[in-house]
Amino acid sequence: MGAPTPPTERTQAIVATFPAKENHTPGSNWSLQDVNVATTLTDGELLVEMLATGICHSDLSLTSSPRMPYPRIAGHEGAGHIKTLGPNMANKELKVGDPVLLSFMHCGKCPYCLKGRPSQCVAFMANLPGRPGVFSSAKGEDGEGTSGEDIIGGFFGQSSFARLSVVQESCVVPAKDLVKDDQELKLFSPLGCGYQTGAGAVLNIAKPSKEASIVVAGLGGVGLAAIMAAKIVNCKEIIGLDRLPSRMQICKDLGATHSIDTSSITDLSKTMKDAANGGRGPDFFIDTTGAPAVLEAGFQALAPGGTMVFIGADMNPANGWAPDYRPVMSRSLKLIGCVEGDSEPAKFVPELVKYYREGRFPIDKMTQYYKAADFKTALHDMHSGDAIKAVLEW
Ligand SMILES: [Zn+2]
Ligand SMILES: [Zn+2]
Repeated sequence: MGAPTPPTERTQAIVATFPAKENHTPGSNWSLQDVNVATTLTDGELLVEMLATGICHSDLSLTSSPRMPYPRIAGHEGAGHIKTLGPNMANKELKVGDPVLLSFMHCGKCPYCLKGRPSQCVAFMANLPGRPGVFSSAKGEDGEGTSGEDIIGGFFGQSSFARLSVVQESCVVPAKDLVKDDQELKLFSPLGCGYQTGAGAVLNIAKPSKEASIVVAGLGGVGLAAIMAAKIVNCKEIIGLDRLPSRMQICKDLGATHSIDTSSITDLSKTMKDAANGGRGPDFFIDTTGAPAVLEAGFQALAPGGTMVFIGADMNPANGWAPDYRPVMSRSLKLIGCVEGDSEPAKFVPELVKYYREGRFPIDKMTQYYKAADFKTALHDMHSGDAIKAVLEW
Protein backbone atom coordinates (compact mmCIF):
# COMPACT_ATOMS: atom_id res chain seq x y z
CA MET A 1 0.00 0.00 0.00
CA GLY A 2 1.33 3.44 -0.96
CA ALA A 3 0.56 6.74 0.72
CA PRO A 4 -3.12 7.69 0.50
CA THR A 5 -3.90 9.88 -2.51
CA PRO A 6 -4.85 13.43 -1.52
CA PRO A 7 -8.43 14.41 -2.41
CA THR A 8 -8.98 15.76 -5.90
CA GLU A 9 -11.87 16.86 -8.03
CA ARG A 10 -12.27 16.25 -11.72
CA THR A 11 -12.45 19.27 -14.00
CA GLN A 12 -11.40 20.42 -17.45
CA ALA A 13 -8.45 22.60 -18.40
CA ILE A 14 -6.39 23.74 -21.35
CA VAL A 15 -3.10 21.89 -20.94
CA ALA A 16 0.07 22.98 -22.74
CA THR A 17 2.63 20.30 -23.56
CA PHE A 18 6.31 20.83 -24.34
CA PRO A 19 6.48 23.02 -27.45
CA ALA A 20 7.86 21.38 -30.58
CA LYS A 21 11.10 23.14 -31.39
CA GLU A 22 10.55 23.27 -35.12
CA ASN A 23 8.10 25.90 -36.40
CA HIS A 24 6.25 26.16 -33.12
CA THR A 25 3.02 28.11 -33.58
CA PRO A 26 2.02 29.62 -30.21
CA GLY A 27 -0.96 27.72 -28.81
CA SER A 28 -0.54 24.72 -31.12
CA ASN A 29 0.54 22.70 -28.06
CA TRP A 30 -2.69 23.47 -26.15
CA SER A 31 -5.53 20.98 -25.71
CA LEU A 32 -8.68 20.86 -23.59
CA GLN A 33 -8.43 17.85 -21.30
CA ASP A 34 -9.99 16.23 -18.26
CA VAL A 35 -7.73 16.83 -15.26
CA ASN A 36 -7.85 16.41 -11.50
CA VAL A 37 -7.33 19.41 -9.26
CA ALA A 38 -6.06 19.03 -5.69
CA THR A 39 -8.77 20.19 -3.30
CA THR A 40 -6.75 20.24 -0.07
CA LEU A 41 -6.00 23.94 0.36
CA THR A 42 -3.21 25.50 2.41
CA ASP A 43 -3.06 28.97 3.98
CA GLY A 44 -4.33 31.75 1.73
CA GLU A 45 -5.53 29.49 -1.09
CA LEU A 46 -9.00 29.30 -2.62
CA LEU A 47 -10.76 27.08 -5.08
CA VAL A 48 -12.33 29.23 -7.78
CA GLU A 49 -15.01 28.03 -10.19
CA MET A 50 -14.00 29.92 -13.34
CA LEU A 51 -16.65 31.66 -15.40
CA ALA A 52 -14.32 33.21 -17.98
CA THR A 53 -10.65 33.77 -18.74
CA GLY A 54 -9.16 36.34 -21.09
CA ILE A 55 -6.36 35.20 -23.37
CA CYS A 56 -3.27 37.40 -23.00
CA HIS A 57 -0.13 37.22 -25.10
CA SER A 58 1.88 36.03 -22.08
CA ASP A 59 -0.24 32.86 -22.07
CA LEU A 60 1.13 32.16 -25.54
CA SER A 61 4.73 33.28 -25.03
CA LEU A 62 5.10 31.44 -21.70
CA THR A 63 3.77 28.19 -23.16
CA SER A 64 6.09 28.51 -26.16
CA SER A 65 9.33 28.68 -24.21
CA PRO A 66 11.27 25.42 -23.84
CA ARG A 67 12.71 26.86 -20.60
CA MET A 68 9.33 26.50 -18.82
CA PRO A 69 8.16 23.28 -17.08
CA TYR A 70 5.55 21.12 -18.89
CA PRO A 71 2.82 19.97 -19.04
CA ARG A 72 1.31 23.17 -17.64
CA ILE A 73 -1.89 25.17 -17.43
CA ALA A 74 -1.71 28.89 -18.25
CA GLY A 75 -4.44 31.52 -17.90
CA HIS A 76 -3.97 34.70 -15.87
CA GLU A 77 -7.07 36.80 -16.55
CA GLY A 78 -9.55 34.71 -14.63
CA ALA A 79 -13.01 35.64 -13.37
CA GLY A 80 -15.24 33.35 -11.36
CA HIS A 81 -16.81 32.48 -8.03
CA ILE A 82 -15.23 31.23 -4.83
CA LYS A 83 -16.04 27.56 -4.33
CA THR A 84 -13.94 26.87 -1.23
CA LEU A 85 -11.91 29.09 1.08
CA GLY A 86 -8.66 27.71 2.47
CA PRO A 87 -7.42 28.30 6.02
CA ASN A 88 -6.12 31.66 7.25
CA MET A 89 -7.38 33.98 4.56
CA ALA A 90 -6.10 37.53 5.11
CA ASN A 91 -9.37 39.02 3.86
CA LYS A 92 -12.02 37.81 6.31
CA GLU A 93 -14.80 39.36 4.19
CA LEU A 94 -14.45 36.80 1.38
CA LYS A 95 -17.33 34.31 1.29
CA VAL A 96 -18.04 31.16 -0.65
CA GLY A 97 -20.00 32.12 -3.78
CA ASP A 98 -18.51 35.61 -4.03
CA PRO A 99 -17.48 36.75 -7.51
CA VAL A 100 -13.76 37.46 -7.92
CA LEU A 101 -11.49 38.88 -10.60
CA LEU A 102 -7.98 37.52 -10.72
CA SER A 103 -4.71 39.35 -11.23
CA PHE A 104 -1.04 38.54 -10.60
CA MET A 105 0.42 37.00 -7.44
CA HIS A 106 2.60 39.05 -5.09
CA CYS A 107 4.04 38.48 -1.61
CA GLY A 108 2.41 41.47 0.12
CA LYS A 109 5.36 41.77 2.52
CA CYS A 110 8.38 43.04 0.56
CA PRO A 111 9.28 46.76 0.39
CA TYR A 112 7.72 47.07 -3.10
CA CYS A 113 4.42 45.46 -2.11
CA LEU A 114 4.33 47.59 1.04
CA LYS A 115 4.72 50.80 -0.93
CA GLY A 116 1.89 49.84 -3.29
CA ARG A 117 3.99 48.63 -6.22
CA PRO A 118 3.30 44.87 -6.22
CA SER A 119 4.30 44.47 -9.88
CA GLN A 120 7.85 45.02 -8.64
CA CYS A 121 7.43 42.42 -5.87
CA VAL A 122 10.67 40.56 -5.13
CA ALA A 123 8.69 37.34 -5.76
CA PHE A 124 7.05 38.52 -9.01
CA MET A 125 8.99 36.10 -11.19
CA ALA A 126 7.33 33.19 -9.36
CA ASN A 127 4.23 34.06 -11.43
CA LEU A 128 5.79 32.73 -14.60
CA PRO A 129 6.78 29.08 -14.07
CA GLY A 130 3.88 28.07 -11.80
CA ARG A 131 4.26 25.09 -9.47
CA PRO A 132 3.67 21.34 -9.32
CA GLY A 133 1.12 19.61 -7.08
CA VAL A 134 -1.99 21.47 -8.27
CA PHE A 135 -3.26 19.41 -11.20
CA SER A 136 -2.79 15.89 -12.45
CA SER A 137 -3.85 14.14 -15.61
CA ALA A 138 -7.10 12.15 -15.71
CA LYS A 139 -8.27 9.58 -18.23
CA GLY A 140 -11.02 10.95 -20.44
CA GLU A 141 -14.49 9.41 -20.31
CA ASP A 142 -13.55 7.46 -23.41
CA GLY A 143 -10.66 5.95 -21.40
CA GLU A 144 -8.11 7.85 -23.48
CA GLY A 145 -5.07 9.57 -21.96
CA THR A 146 -2.92 9.01 -18.91
CA SER A 147 -3.82 9.26 -15.26
CA GLY A 148 -1.93 10.76 -12.32
CA GLU A 149 0.81 12.62 -14.18
CA ASP A 150 1.58 15.97 -12.50
CA ILE A 151 0.50 19.08 -14.43
CA ILE A 152 1.94 22.43 -13.40
CA GLY A 153 -0.60 24.91 -12.02
CA GLY A 154 -0.33 28.18 -10.12
CA PHE A 155 0.48 30.21 -13.26
CA PHE A 156 0.30 33.82 -12.03
CA GLY A 157 -1.06 32.19 -8.86
CA GLN A 158 -4.26 31.17 -10.70
CA SER A 159 -3.88 28.94 -13.83
CA SER A 160 -7.33 30.11 -14.87
CA PHE A 161 -7.45 28.07 -18.07
CA ALA A 162 -9.28 25.56 -15.90
CA ARG A 163 -12.94 25.32 -14.96
CA LEU A 164 -11.88 24.79 -11.34
CA SER A 165 -8.51 26.00 -10.08
CA VAL A 166 -6.48 26.64 -6.94
CA VAL A 167 -5.85 30.37 -6.61
CA GLN A 168 -3.57 32.37 -4.31
CA GLU A 169 -5.37 35.01 -2.28
CA SER A 170 -2.95 37.74 -3.40
CA CYS A 171 -4.37 37.37 -6.94
CA VAL A 172 -7.92 38.05 -5.86
CA VAL A 173 -9.75 41.31 -6.51
CA PRO A 174 -13.09 40.96 -4.67
CA ALA A 175 -15.83 41.76 -7.20
CA LYS A 176 -19.04 41.54 -5.15
CA ASP A 177 -19.38 45.33 -5.17
CA LEU A 178 -17.99 45.74 -8.71
CA VAL A 179 -20.22 43.60 -10.92
CA LYS A 180 -23.96 43.58 -11.50
CA ASP A 181 -24.14 40.10 -13.02
CA ASP A 182 -22.17 37.23 -14.53
CA GLN A 183 -22.02 38.91 -17.93
CA GLU A 184 -20.11 41.81 -16.41
CA LEU A 185 -17.87 39.42 -14.52
CA LYS A 186 -16.91 37.86 -17.88
CA LEU A 187 -16.38 41.25 -19.51
CA PHE A 188 -14.12 42.37 -16.67
CA SER A 189 -11.93 39.23 -16.68
CA PRO A 190 -9.06 40.91 -18.62
CA LEU A 191 -8.89 43.87 -16.23
CA GLY A 192 -6.43 41.96 -14.04
CA CYS A 193 -3.74 41.83 -16.74
CA GLY A 194 -4.13 43.18 -20.28
CA TYR A 195 -6.36 46.15 -19.60
CA GLN A 196 -4.67 47.28 -16.39
CA THR A 197 -1.31 47.00 -18.15
CA GLY A 198 -2.31 49.29 -21.02
CA ALA A 199 -4.27 51.74 -18.90
CA GLY A 200 -1.63 51.74 -16.16
CA ALA A 201 1.16 52.46 -18.66
CA VAL A 202 -0.55 55.79 -19.23
CA LEU A 203 -2.24 56.58 -15.90
CA ASN A 204 0.37 55.17 -13.49
CA ILE A 205 3.64 55.36 -15.44
CA ALA A 206 3.62 57.98 -18.24
CA LYS A 207 1.20 60.32 -16.42
CA PRO A 208 0.87 62.70 -19.39
CA SER A 209 -0.68 66.12 -19.04
CA LYS A 210 -3.58 67.37 -21.18
CA GLU A 211 -1.07 69.23 -23.35
CA ALA A 212 0.81 66.03 -24.20
CA SER A 213 1.07 64.30 -27.53
CA ILE A 214 1.13 60.50 -27.11
CA VAL A 215 1.73 57.66 -29.56
CA VAL A 216 0.57 54.11 -28.78
CA ALA A 217 2.19 51.45 -30.97
CA GLY A 218 0.31 48.16 -31.37
CA LEU A 219 -3.48 48.32 -31.03
CA GLY A 220 -4.39 45.02 -29.39
CA GLY A 221 -6.25 44.92 -26.08
CA VAL A 222 -3.29 46.44 -24.22
CA GLY A 223 -2.66 49.23 -26.74
CA LEU A 224 -6.34 50.15 -27.01
CA ALA A 225 -6.57 50.28 -23.21
CA ALA A 226 -3.69 52.78 -23.36
CA ILE A 227 -5.60 54.80 -26.00
CA MET A 228 -8.69 54.89 -23.76
CA ALA A 229 -6.55 55.96 -20.79
CA ALA A 230 -4.98 58.78 -22.84
CA LYS A 231 -8.52 59.88 -23.70
CA ILE A 232 -9.45 59.78 -19.97
CA VAL A 233 -6.58 62.26 -19.43
CA ASN A 234 -7.80 64.07 -22.56
CA CYS A 235 -4.34 64.34 -24.10
CA LYS A 236 -4.07 66.90 -26.90
CA GLU A 237 -2.91 64.38 -29.49
CA ILE A 238 -3.53 60.63 -29.21
CA ILE A 239 -1.98 58.71 -32.07
CA GLY A 240 -2.63 54.99 -32.58
CA LEU A 241 -0.31 52.96 -34.75
CA ASP A 242 -0.74 49.42 -36.07
CA ARG A 243 -0.08 47.26 -39.11
CA LEU A 244 -3.72 46.13 -39.28
CA PRO A 245 -5.80 48.64 -41.28
CA SER A 246 -8.90 47.39 -39.39
CA ARG A 247 -7.57 48.90 -36.15
CA MET A 248 -7.58 52.48 -37.49
CA GLN A 249 -11.32 53.01 -36.98
CA ILE A 250 -11.59 51.32 -33.57
CA CYS A 251 -8.73 53.36 -32.14
CA LYS A 252 -10.50 56.54 -33.26
CA ASP A 253 -13.79 55.28 -31.82
CA LEU A 254 -11.99 54.83 -28.49
CA GLY A 255 -10.43 58.29 -28.46
CA ALA A 256 -7.44 58.50 -30.82
CA THR A 257 -7.13 61.81 -32.67
CA HIS A 258 -4.95 60.31 -35.43
CA SER A 259 -4.05 56.84 -36.62
CA ILE A 260 -1.07 55.52 -38.52
CA ASP A 261 -1.42 52.41 -40.67
CA THR A 262 2.13 51.09 -40.78
CA SER A 263 1.26 48.68 -43.60
CA SER A 264 1.16 51.61 -46.02
CA ILE A 265 4.03 53.90 -45.00
CA THR A 266 7.76 53.80 -45.64
CA ASP A 267 9.31 56.14 -43.06
CA LEU A 268 7.61 55.33 -39.75
CA SER A 269 9.76 57.62 -37.63
CA LYS A 270 9.15 60.66 -39.85
CA THR A 271 5.42 59.93 -40.07
CA MET A 272 5.17 59.83 -36.26
CA LYS A 273 7.27 62.95 -35.82
CA ASP A 274 5.26 64.88 -38.42
CA ALA A 275 1.98 63.84 -36.78
CA ALA A 276 2.89 65.04 -33.28
CA ASN A 277 3.41 68.46 -31.76
CA GLY A 278 3.50 70.21 -35.13
CA GLY A 279 6.48 68.15 -36.30
CA ARG A 280 8.50 68.09 -33.05
CA GLY A 281 7.51 64.50 -32.33
CA PRO A 282 5.47 62.91 -29.53
CA ASP A 283 6.06 63.56 -25.82
CA PHE A 284 5.24 59.90 -25.08
CA PHE A 285 5.78 56.75 -27.06
CA ILE A 286 4.07 53.70 -25.55
CA ASP A 287 5.17 50.46 -27.22
CA THR A 288 3.21 47.23 -26.96
CA THR A 289 4.85 45.56 -29.97
CA GLY A 290 8.41 44.76 -28.88
CA ALA A 291 9.29 44.98 -32.58
CA PRO A 292 12.83 46.36 -32.99
CA ALA A 293 11.95 48.50 -36.06
CA VAL A 294 8.98 50.07 -34.26
CA LEU A 295 11.04 50.68 -31.11
CA GLU A 296 13.80 52.41 -33.09
CA ALA A 297 11.30 54.52 -35.03
CA GLY A 298 9.57 55.64 -31.82
CA PHE A 299 12.89 56.37 -30.16
CA GLN A 300 13.97 58.53 -33.10
CA ALA A 301 10.63 60.34 -33.26
CA LEU A 302 10.39 61.39 -29.59
CA ALA A 303 10.31 65.10 -28.83
CA PRO A 304 13.05 66.50 -26.57
CA GLY A 305 12.34 65.46 -22.98
CA GLY A 306 10.12 62.68 -24.31
CA THR A 307 9.33 59.40 -22.56
CA MET A 308 9.28 55.90 -23.98
CA VAL A 309 7.37 53.17 -22.12
CA PHE A 310 8.09 49.51 -22.87
CA ILE A 311 5.16 47.12 -22.50
CA GLY A 312 5.79 44.53 -25.22
CA ALA A 313 8.82 42.30 -25.50
CA ASP A 314 9.87 39.79 -28.12
CA MET A 315 11.30 36.94 -26.05
CA ASN A 316 13.40 35.68 -28.97
CA PRO A 317 16.96 36.76 -28.06
CA ALA A 318 17.63 37.33 -31.79
CA ASN A 319 15.04 40.14 -31.81
CA GLY A 320 16.60 42.46 -29.26
CA TRP A 321 16.86 46.23 -29.49
CA ALA A 322 19.22 48.60 -27.68
CA PRO A 323 19.05 52.39 -27.88
CA ASP A 324 22.05 54.64 -28.36
CA TYR A 325 22.56 56.24 -24.92
CA ARG A 326 23.91 59.49 -26.41
CA PRO A 327 20.58 60.85 -27.70
CA VAL A 328 19.00 59.67 -24.42
CA MET A 329 21.43 62.04 -22.70
CA SER A 330 21.48 64.94 -25.17
CA ARG A 331 17.70 64.96 -25.73
CA SER A 332 16.87 64.32 -22.04
CA LEU A 333 14.79 61.25 -22.86
CA LYS A 334 13.26 58.87 -20.32
CA LEU A 335 13.00 55.14 -20.98
CA ILE A 336 10.71 53.27 -18.58
CA GLY A 337 9.71 49.62 -18.30
CA CYS A 338 6.13 48.61 -17.58
CA VAL A 339 4.96 45.43 -15.87
CA GLU A 340 1.21 45.14 -15.25
CA GLY A 341 0.90 48.91 -15.66
CA ASP A 342 2.58 49.39 -12.26
CA SER A 343 -0.89 48.68 -10.90
CA GLU A 344 -2.09 47.78 -7.47
CA PRO A 345 -4.94 45.59 -8.77
CA ALA A 346 -7.13 45.82 -5.66
CA LYS A 347 -7.28 49.59 -6.18
CA PHE A 348 -6.77 50.02 -9.93
CA VAL A 349 -9.27 47.39 -11.15
CA PRO A 350 -12.15 49.13 -9.29
CA GLU A 351 -10.95 52.45 -10.76
CA LEU A 352 -11.15 50.97 -14.27
CA VAL A 353 -14.64 49.62 -13.54
CA LYS A 354 -15.64 53.16 -12.52
CA TYR A 355 -14.33 54.50 -15.85
CA TYR A 356 -16.26 51.75 -17.64
CA ARG A 357 -19.48 52.80 -15.89
CA GLU A 358 -18.84 56.41 -16.91
CA GLY A 359 -18.50 55.30 -20.55
CA ARG A 360 -14.81 56.23 -20.59
CA PHE A 361 -13.37 52.72 -20.72
CA PRO A 362 -15.73 50.95 -23.16
CA ILE A 363 -14.10 47.54 -23.19
CA ASP A 364 -17.35 45.97 -24.40
CA LYS A 365 -16.49 47.36 -27.86
CA MET A 366 -13.39 45.20 -28.12
CA THR A 367 -14.26 41.91 -26.41
CA GLN A 368 -15.22 38.67 -28.17
CA TYR A 369 -16.41 35.57 -26.33
CA TYR A 370 -15.65 31.95 -27.20
CA LYS A 371 -16.54 28.68 -25.52
CA ALA A 372 -13.42 27.26 -23.86
CA ALA A 373 -13.66 24.26 -26.19
CA ASP A 374 -13.34 26.68 -29.13
CA PHE A 375 -10.05 28.16 -27.94
CA LYS A 376 -8.41 27.33 -31.28
CA THR A 377 -10.91 29.61 -33.07
CA ALA A 378 -10.13 32.33 -30.51
CA LEU A 379 -6.39 31.97 -31.17
CA HIS A 380 -6.98 32.03 -34.92
CA ASP A 381 -9.05 35.20 -34.62
CA MET A 382 -6.47 36.87 -32.38
CA HIS A 383 -3.75 36.02 -34.88
CA SER A 384 -5.72 37.25 -37.89
CA GLY A 385 -6.78 40.42 -36.08
CA ASP A 386 -10.50 39.52 -36.19
CA ALA A 387 -10.55 39.44 -32.38
CA ILE A 388 -9.00 42.22 -30.29
CA LYS A 389 -9.59 40.65 -26.90
CA ALA A 390 -10.68 37.03 -26.77
CA VAL A 391 -12.38 35.79 -23.61
CA LEU A 392 -13.01 32.08 -23.04
CA GLU A 393 -16.21 31.00 -21.30
CA TRP A 394 -16.09 27.94 -19.03
ZN1 LIG B 1 6.24 41.56 -2.57
ZN1 LIG C 1 -1.05 39.13 -19.33
